[in-house]
Amino acid sequence: MSETLFEQIIDREVPADIVHETETTLAFRDINPRAPVHVLVIPKTRYRNVAELAAADPRLLADVLSTAATVAEQEGIAEAGYRVTFNTGDDGGQTVYHVHAHVLGGAPLGPEAAPR
Ligand code: 5GP
Repeated sequence: MSETLFEQIIDREVPADIVHETETTLAFRDINPRAPVHVLVIPKTRYRNVAELAAADPRLLADVLSTAATVAEQEGIAEAGYRVTFNTGDDGGQTVYHVHAHVLGGAPLGPEAAPR
């Protein structure tokens, strides 16, 4: 099967706790949350990573970031602050090769992760 997990979530073939949807993006809770709020935002069109998305469709990348901001407002973390990350490639910790923004917040997050 060539579809990634996230395409299956877009197609509602795999269940997810969807918190927001637009014409071009989908936001759902991470199954393994690393913060009190941990939501993934994906474009409905598949690009492997944020670099490919930025090169091919900067407007769609803006949509992803706009949805991340909407989710932060909706989850009540916009004022206190939050983190948006795009893990990219194996060393970046990417495990699902359909670009996604992690929206993390709800507690002080500390510094960025150090190399393992
Ligand atoms: P990555 O490691 O690629 O940056 O992020 C992939 C994320 O997808 C991980 O944080 C992981 O917990 C999450 N994830 C993996 N499988 C599922 C799933 O079936 N449903 C949801 N909602 N999240 C998942």
